[in-house]
Amino acid sequence: MISIDTDVVVIGGGQAGLAAGYYLRRAGHRYVILDDQPTPGGAWPHTWRSLRLFSPAEFAALPGWPMPPWPDGFPPACHVVDYFTAYEERYNLPIRRPVRVTGVHRDGQNLVVSAGEHTWRAQRVISATGTWQQPFWPIYPGAREFTGRQLHTVDYRQPSDFAGARVVVVGGGNSAAQLVAEISTAAATTWVTTRPPRFLADDVDGRVLFRVASERAAAIAAGLPDPGGPASLGDIVMVPEVREARARGVLHALPMFDRLTPDGIAWGNTVQHADIIVWATGFRPALTHLRPLRLRERDGHIAVSGTRALKEPRLYLLGYGDWTGPGSATILGVGRTARAAVAELDLGA
Ligand code: FAD
Repeated sequence: MISIDTDVVVIGGGQAGLAAGYYLRRAGHRYVILDDQPTPGGAWPHTWRSLRLFSPAEFAALPGWPMPPWPDGFPPACHVVDYFTAYEERYNLPIRRPVRVTGVHRDGQNLVVSAGEHTWRAQRVISATGTWQQPFWPIYPGAREFTGRQLHTVDYRQPSDFAGARVVVVGGGNSAAQLVAEISTAAATTWVTTRPPRFLADDVDGRVLFRVASERAAAIAAGLPDPGGPASLGDIVMVPEVREARARGVLHALPMFDRLTPDGIAWGNTVQHADIIVWATGFRPALTHLRPLRLRERDGHIAVSGTRALKEPRLYLLGYGDWTGPGSATILGVGRTARAAVAELDLGA
């Protein structure tokens, strides 16, 4: 067993981990970033092939160095990966890959981060492990009896994989709408949602959502009530592909089915054949490495004040969702929460 002492361990080397690394470096702290992937990019190398950001490159900047422009509309995921790769190199961030953290434990004044043969003893831990590794699959009656194929957003790559099949896409968010738009170019596609989908106006994209997130963050920082906003990141952004699907007349959601049958889905006595079900039903925070600390609340989150865990003040959480700060789970927004977390670290001598 090899034990290493440091001030701060960041777990996760996606955008949230990089933003933390930028501010830790600037503050002159001793730190390491542990990431379980073989290459840079966090979740972005694993998304479906055609995925593009929902805003222009200038609205997807990590702190210190903006994303290079993408001349042809909104940037694709591969551009994000290239940017993160260059960002790590530019700031010479101390990232160790692939290192899978399996547990974080208390040990006197320190937290101990375990990964195979290695442990890191740190005064503070910043957890930035995202949600991609924790896809959420709701449980519906008949799911085990269904003889077709079931997959989640994380498994989806391209519409040609579904050519000629009868496909059901489940979910009311951005991923679901984009998958319906794309899969329906190759396969008969049914869309089902638990509540009617909420479409944003055509002229609302990531730029507006980031402005709303900034206004919320400013209000909270000033001690004012959270003003919320007309749109949340869960509402559907009318990216060009989704607008095009609307024009084709395929963007109609049916109510959620109540069960699966061996060869399809059913609402009461109405049965529909299906070969493939795509569960675009979202994600949960990937927090299994923090289990030994026993911090999770009933909603699956960890109670925080800002980004700091209420029941373990040596632990900070970045990304995951708005519960760690407005826009914290976006490329642009995580810089603000990372800066606040690092400013608050309060390291001993
Ligand atoms: P991740 O990118 O998931 O990075 C976490 C890293 O931690 C990964 O490398 C992971 O492998 C690693 N890790 C996990 N567990 C461990 C462990 N135990 N030990 C070590 N390493 C670990 N945001 C925008 O700003 N604009 C957009 O257009 C946009 N589009 C999106 C589209 C989709 C389909 C999705 C799902 C999200 C989108 N987002 C967008 C939101 C957000 O930017 C991404 O979810 C982003 O990946 C979150 O970054 P992160 O660093 O928090 O997590």
